[in-house]
Amino acid sequence: MKDEGKNIFSVFDEIIPRAEKEVLLKQKARVVWMTGLSGSGKTTIAKYLEKELHQQGFLTQLLDGDNIRSGINNNLGFSEEDRTENIRRIAEVSKLFLNCGVITINCFVSPTKAIRQEARSIIGEDDFIEVLVDTPLAICEARDVKGLYKKARKGEIKDFTGISAPFEAPEQAIKIQTENHTVAESAQILLDQLIPKIKKSAEA
Ligand code: ADP
Repeated sequence: MKDEGKNIFSVFDEIIPRAEKEVLLKQKARVVWMTGLSGSGKTTIAKYLEKELHQQGFLTQLLDGDNIRSGINNNLGFSEEDRTENIRRIAEVSKLFLNCGVITINCFVSPTKAIRQEARSIIGEDDFIEVLVDTPLAICEARDVKGLYKKARKGEIKDFTGISAPFEAPEQAIKIQTENHTVAESAQILLDQLIPKIKKSAEA
């Protein structure tokens, strides 16, 4: 009677390992971390990329401000502390997807090396693919997709990356240009570099 509940979870507490899920999905899970100025093209390229990957049979999840800030991070603002917490939670969520065998595509300005390093260390060096959407500030500002640059220039947004807060470009990342390229061209360059990293060979 006394020991009745002791081993009650013995069957259920073993989580199926990532490797087995990757076999099931016939892919290698990775986190594609897109960094770049607001309006550089992160979300546009990520959406195009996700469709292409889906068509090729990969299981993906796109994370961006829309699905993160409206849900899991809806209690966070834009103070330095909250920005750090925002990225920490995104990295932890990505890690859960990673352990499920899913390819996660993340679109966040993530402007500093320190903040991306935090994400990299949570996710793990081998699974973290850093991508710089390398669009000059002048082009992003001319696009002004969400009207944020106009507001930032008027001083209505504090600490706006590229205007009143720095953007520290990564040195080692896959670099994608969007100036003078179509979305399809920009996305294809990323796709070509990504496929070998996520494709599972028959024996792997
Ligand atoms: P971010 O997610 O980085 O804030 P968005 O993807 O929301 O940027 O906006 C990028 C804008 O730039 C879109 O209006 C898109 O149509 C335009 N654009 C023009 N050329 C490209 C390209 N080659 N790649 C990505 N976006 C491009």
